[in-house]
Amino acid sequence: MNTSKLFKVMKSLLYHIKVYFVLVMLFGINHQLFAQKENTANLVNKTFQVNVLIDNGNVNVKITDLKQNVVWADGTYQYELGEMISGQLKEYSGLELPKLERQFDRIRIRGLIGGFEIEHDLIVASGSPFLAEVMKIVNTHSVLRNVQQFTSSFCKKVVSSDGEISDNNIKDRFQAVPFLHRSDDTVSYNQHDYTLQQIRDGKGFCFYTTELFWDSRRRHPSHNFISEGWGWRHKDATLGIFSFNQDNMIFSTLSYSKDGYLHFGGFTKEGLNLSAMERFEPTSSLYLGMNRIYSITGDYNQISYQYRNMLDELGCRFPNDYNPPVHWEQLYSKNMEEAWVGNRELFNRENLITNEVRKAREYSCQALYLDPGWDTEFGSFIWANKRLGDCKDYVEMMKKNYGLLTSLHTPLSPWASNEKLLMGPSSVNTWPDSSKRLIKVIDSLSKSEKNIKAKIGPQICLGSKQYLDEAEKRMLKLCEAGVTFLMFDGPHWNGNCVDPNHGHPIPFLYEDQVDACIDLIRRIHRKYQNVLIEMHDMLTGGGFSRAVPVYYKYGLPGSYDENWGFELMWSPFKHLQDKSALALYYYNLGCNVPLYLHVDIGQDNTNSLLLWWYASTCRHLGIGVNNTDPDLAENHKREMKLYIELQDFFKRGDFYGINEEIHVHTLPEINECVVNIFNIEGNPKVTGGSIDLSEIGLDPQKKYTSNKDWIKINNGKLIISKQMKAMDADLATIIN
Ligand SMILES: [Zn+2]
Repeated sequence: MNTSKLFKVMKSLLYHIKVYFVLVMLFGINHQLFAQKENTANLVNKTFQVNVLIDNGNVNVKITDLKQNVVWADGTYQYELGEMISGQLKEYSGLELPKLERQFDRIRIRGLIGGFEIEHDLIVASGSPFLAEVMKIVNTHSVLRNVQQFTSSFCKKVVSSDGEISDNNIKDRFQAVPFLHRSDDTVSYNQHDYTLQQIRDGKGFCFYTTELFWDSRRRHPSHNFISEGWGWRHKDATLGIFSFNQDNMIFSTLSYSKDGYLHFGGFTKEGLNLSAMERFEPTSSLYLGMNRIYSITGDYNQISYQYRNMLDELGCRFPNDYNPPVHWEQLYSKNMEEAWVGNRELFNRENLITNEVRKAREYSCQALYLDPGWDTEFGSFIWANKRLGDCKDYVEMMKKNYGLLTSLHTPLSPWASNEKLLMGPSSVNTWPDSSKRLIKVIDSLSKSEKNIKAKIGPQICLGSKQYLDEAEKRMLKLCEAGVTFLMFDGPHWNGNCVDPNHGHPIPFLYEDQVDACIDLIRRIHRKYQNVLIEMHDMLTGGGFSRAVPVYYKYGLPGSYDENWGFELMWSPFKHLQDKSALALYYYNLGCNVPLYLHVDIGQDNTNSLLLWWYASTCRHLGIGVNNTDPDLAENHKREMKLYIELQDFFKRGDFYGINEEIHVHTLPEINECVVNIFNIEGNPKVTGGSIDLSEIGLDPQKKYTSNKDWIKINNGKLIISKQMKAMDADLATIIN
């Protein structure tokens, strides 16, 4: 070896030693960095023990909960994939060449399935209260591929030798978080609290949408049971199984297989979820997401709070200074009748100031929200100067003369360019011709495929750069004039579009539509970060179904500020009677992404039940009325004054539930709270309950007083008992 060669070897050796030490310094990584390849690997901390064994090519996973002494998973981990090849579905099951690597705090399982590589990590960090499961899939081929089916899951045998559910599991239950009750549930629909027998019967559902018209229900039958998270109740123990992915939509999925196993965790492509697998780019990888598995002690609320804490930790929580303006919604007013379905002349300054501004102020509102009609054409985002005068002048006048901010409805192209759904004159011709949707149809005569401009469904493509560029320009102009709130309504599924000049991927998938929505929001927030943007469900648009996970894309840089309150605006009183409004209560137990809703308080009763229910469950409140009953109006004006006094509690307090009818809003920094109580039954009854102060975020050492005699505070406990009228409401403050 000559000197220069020796020098090179020395240099390389030094380099590798340096890299090793840098890694040790940075990550505290010890020799386990260099993976050990074995047939078994184990992880343990104070809460969980995980054992993985490769046996006969199967990957067997056992999860033991050391705190609660329960084996939650024990059996062959399921990996299944179905790829569409030349119109035929080719299905694969299990991993080929599975390998285990024990790395620091994780076990990495690697293997192949149908020519895709799976990288599957089980992570148990020391001191961590949860077990994390993370999965990535790689297309190892140099061609674009279409994966139609994918399932992976832990499993646990739940039947005994006679084929019946075992005595050990017979009383198990599975409770969904955040929606124990969904907004599209009817009274007769069971809450999402299932027995093992129900999971076995397989009457679950998934969400998907293929129609291009507004449809309030998007549920379709499935053998899977989906939710953002589940609490598996087994005797006194509970396992939280929570999903999270900000890149690709996923749900936590439960199912039963005929061989007697319950399946949970893992990642499942179904309905709207993981659509990106259908356009799997060559030699690229896809992040399937993360599940966190928690050992939980306590009742349903503790499962919800644990899920909510996880979302908080992952950035899905309203900011500390969140302070949305209470909206006056003009839509319900008599003097604005049919203004939103074509009678746009009613949108003039005189009518708005004489009637709407006056009412907004009488009801202590902080912004005047304008629904369809303020713009030149429906969904043009162009201010109607002719009727309303200059936008900047209007906004400044409203603020200066009446102390009101300006908020606007901005329906996106899937709604606004669909001829069957227009609310006023069409804005289609105001958009660049190049933004029109191009679809593929079969020519029935020649049976050949051809591309035509869309005549059904939306005419303008939401994902086209031509639409997004122009929409950005028009919306920025509104923000520049001082508008402070935009409602991104109507993003129900756009349908496919095959125009190669639109700058979006082809085929255009569900996930691409979500990206288009977030892209437009970011373009606005880049210049006007304080403009509040409410984002409807990015795939089902308006309607009662919430199909996109509640946290999806919230908390990412420049993303949206508020979720939509599931369309419960039209018949808010009826939705208390039919219980669909319970979805709002459960949402708040499990999620701190703020909800926005504007309700017609003209439907309220004299107990102000409606007003206080929605004030208690929607951090951003909007109200309006369609009648002028003087007694009701006086009640509401008085109640709204009280709301404004207490607004900090409702807008950014921590929400707790003692039960569906007792809500607590705590500001921990001042150790005070507001308690709302309700009777949402048609008969008089006592609403009551009790809770430890520490469970509602109050320091139990302090002394508290309440302004209502139906609250007692004794020995660190809050005790509530009040005889309520039918459909009744009341509230109290607790101060120290
Ligand atoms: Zn397009």
